[in-house]
Amino acid sequence: MKLVFAIPFPVISITASPTALAYIQIMDPSKNGNRAAWLQGPAGHCEVPPTDKVTPWRLILLGAPGVGKGTQADLLRARLGACHLSTGDVFRAAGSRPECDQSPAMREALQFMRRGELVPDSTVWELVRERRACLRCRGGFILDGFPRTLGQALSLEQLMKGEELSLTAVVSYELPAEEIVARLAGRRTCEKCKAVYHIVQRPPQMAGQCDHCGGKLFQREDDRPESIKVRLEAYEQSTKPLLEFYKKSGLLCQIAATGTPEQILARTVPEIEHHHLHQAAEQLWTAAENRR
Ligand code: AMP
Repeated sequence: MKLVFAIPFPVISITASPTALAYIQIMDPSKNGNRAAWLQGPAGHCEVPPTDKVTPWRLILLGAPGVGKGTQADLLRARLGACHLSTGDVFRAAGSRPECDQSPAMREALQFMRRGELVPDSTVWELVRERRACLRCRGGFILDGFPRTLGQALSLEQLMKGEELSLTAVVSYELPAEEIVARLAGRRTCEKCKAVYHIVQRPPQMAGQCDHCGGKLFQREDDRPESIKVRLEAYEQSTKPLLEFYKKSGLLCQIAATGTPEQILARTVPEIEHHHLHQAAEQLWTAAENRR
């Protein structure tokens, strides 16, 4: 069967060159598999094959930057076995390569990212479209940071329809703006192993140094005050309308992102399990109908 994808944006190939693999592996701690197919694009092959599931978890995590989507994605990955697919991670992996290994479209995308602005839909969509095998993967997925605009959500919907895939649920993590700003401004990341700290809430034992590997801690360019403001505005204007979009489709779970990561996870799991059961029942029903 030939699959046809509707692409509402001009196509610019931004697939990483094969020499980028070494950098990608540094970005990607083994606890999360190597996610090469996601981080590198079509040329990458995941080291750890996914476990086949009858009803794979296919989740989207929404929420303002700094709300803790990445942490929840990692906890959910450990619990559900689905792969954590972050578009921000793909850009950061590309940004850590030498410029000569970056395509012109990726260099342009990184400029948007450094300013805290959204990367244009055409570039983001091409990046995801190139990686559509990850969406088809029988291990399932947890999308973190995509979709971020209505255009991206519509493109994803069309692609999934074409592939006969359905989403399990869309989780929106919610937190007051002041708390988000405090979280982002205090966030520090290890330049070697990518462990994340907070100068007040989760400080390292030695200031500026990673507890795990001794690496130097740095502040992400887009966590500086001027970029934080731009990122929060982008969320309000472009991403918040997605709540209504997914509410209409009955997939939305709204979760308070207050408390510890474990408390937030404990609030999330019963909500998504409800959707997963529903999805499994629908799948059985369709299979029974097809046998008739
Ligand atoms: P994140 O790690 O998800 O906060 O993403 C970091 C940055 O990457 C964002 O501030 C954007 O500049 C860019 N980015 C990541 N995902 C997207 C997306 N789906 N649409 C547009 N820009 C994105």
